[in-house]
Amino acid sequence: MLIFEKIVDGVFLIYSDSQFWFKCNGIVIKNKSLGDILIDCNCFYKEEIKTLTKNQIEAYFVSHVHLDHVYNLHFYEEYDSNIKIYCPNPEHEFLKDFNKFIKANGTLDFGIGDEFKHFAFKQLNFKELHSVIGFTPGTEFEFDNIRLKTIHIPGHSPGQTAFLIEDTTEHNRKILFVSDIGLTKMGAWYGFKYSNLKDVRESIKKLENIYINDDYIITSGHGPILFEKQPAIFNDLLIKMDNINKNILNMLNSDNPVSLDDLIFKGLFFSEKYIKTREGDGILYFFETNMIMSHISELLEQGKVIEVANNQWILNT
Ligand SMILES: [Zn+2]
Repeated sequence: MLIFEKIVDGVFLIYSDSQFWFKCNGIVIKNKSLGDILIDCNCFYKEEIKTLTKNQIEAYFVSHVHLDHVYNLHFYEEYDSNIKIYCPNPEHEFLKDFNKFIKANGTLDFGIGDEFKHFAFKQLNFKELHSVIGFTPGTEFEFDNIRLKTIHIPGHSPGQTAFLIEDTTEHNRKILFVSDIGLTKMGAWYGFKYSNLKDVRESIKKLENIYINDDYIITSGHGPILFEKQPAIFNDLLIKMDNINKNILNMLNSDNPVSLDDLIFKGLFFSEKYIKTREGDGILYFFETNMIMSHISELLEQGKVIEVANNQWILNT
């Protein structure tokens, strides 16, 4: 069943209560004269699509092309090919041509392109779309009384976009939908080759600056609705990343080189317990590799670590 949780009058956070593990939250904006505006409303289970397409859909927005946000999009296209699906550049290309996605996200070069494709097409039933409208994050959209400001928050993915939702006629509070900036237990995520830790940090600061300087209700792709202001929420994310640097430094020493394999699946990101249940999972290995390497690059740049051989490091004391 789909749950519609009211954020303000006419705007809802939606999610499925199905047990399926790979899901996200979306936003439905009711617009009486034009039709609904949807953001990331991917997570429905089979027949639940009917609940979302009951009303006319004026526009559908994708925050970024990660599978948990897009594998069901073909249902909209099949339902009504006139639904305009907007996706930030350059990720709109990935929805039309999955080969471009595995090339950009690094799974192809890592040798797990087929495994990743199998996960997408066979396990999630992802289908490529025929028509997607690319937009440059930062573009402002107006739908009658609804103003949608898009904010580029790269790092997690190159085009990731946050949405600032404003009703220009009602005195509703403004809503900031921050997609996958990291408002979950795990924190920020940067496990693809195209992910970029520096950009993640800058995007977090960008959102923090918007959030603390005005009144917003905040919500995201995987977290709750935060009606009360939580000023530290973004800084906490940065601290979490700094702590990963500290944890890596604790695992290194100044004499014996430690290799990438010594760091992988030791609880830096995925817990050892969880990894035992997912043996032979090349995708998780790929994710953890990229996340660790992002931090190692940062530590190398800060001069805290020295590379003594390929993917082997010691502390710089
Ligand atoms: Zn994502």
